[in-house]
Amino acid sequence: MAGVISADNIEEDTRLNESLGKIKHVIIVLSGKGGVGKSTVSSNLASALSYKGYVTGLMDIDITGPSIPKMFGIEDEKLDVQDKKLVPIMVPPSLKVMSMAFLLPTKDTPVLWRGPVKMTAVRQFIEDVEWGDLDYLVIDMPPGTGDEALSIIQLIPKPDGAVIVTTPQDVSLIDSRKSITFVNEVGVPVIGIVENMSGFVCPHCKEVTDIFKSGGGEEVAKEFGIQFLGKVPIEPAVVVSSDKGLPIVLDDPDSLSAKAFMSIIDKVVKTVE
Ligand code: ADP
Repeated sequence: MAGVISADNIEEDTRLNESLGKIKHVIIVLSGKGGVGKSTVSSNLASALSYKGYVTGLMDIDITGPSIPKMFGIEDEKLDVQDKKLVPIMVPPSLKVMSMAFLLPTKDTPVLWRGPVKMTAVRQFIEDVEWGDLDYLVIDMPPGTGDEALSIIQLIPKPDGAVIVTTPQDVSLIDSRKSITFVNEVGVPVIGIVENMSGFVCPHCKEVTDIFKSGGGEEVAKEFGIQFLGKVPIEPAVVVSSDKGLPIVLDDPDSLSAKAFMSIIDKVVKTVE
């Protein structure tokens, strides 16, 4: 990022590097618009990495509606502070979770900070978490490709890459093209595209029906010469498990969506490592 180099900048960058410096791989999860399943992908990605034995953290900076604590049933947890640093909540067996939601007065409070205050809060949030040594940190970004998302992505030192989440509808695919251009502009490599809500799985007969078309994410990936990570179907069990506070990869590993997530995660790990 271009800017005037001052003692303050250097000190701030040092704090960011100190906070994220002991992390081997940082993966950003983003989407061109809200509601496409970005947080669902982030939580399943992080849970599966942790389940596979990687020391993993999940950071929720979706200030437009931080939903990760709800997805793990930890929305009422209180944060600990040690040596002036926030200690992430440990979700069994070994996932460390931190969310902007924990800093809000009540879980139903929308984030109404004005621009500069919001950016200061996000920066402090990123700096002030004690992650310790991690193999992976998964970051759930706010949706969109506007100024706010741009300022936030630039706060993250050297991410390994971005996973872009889209749905099969044209409007979402247009947004995913914008997301690719967005990460290219800030110099973050694209790990690949996930097409979520791709086909509906009947809970009774397990037949898959393409209620909103399918394959658009793959076409966008081809168009930009990037990896297509896979399709995740719409499955009622995804909502049920996330409302229970357990991501589907842990709650129902035999479901079609859990299998889809596991195959996506294998591709992400292969790409990053
Ligand atoms: P975003 O983070 O993009 O706003 P969420 O991950 O919060 O989206 O998902 C929005 C809603 O859609 C949630 O209720 C979630 O449980 C549901 N959802 C996401 N992916 C799926 C899926 N593959 N099948 C069924 N429901 C899903």
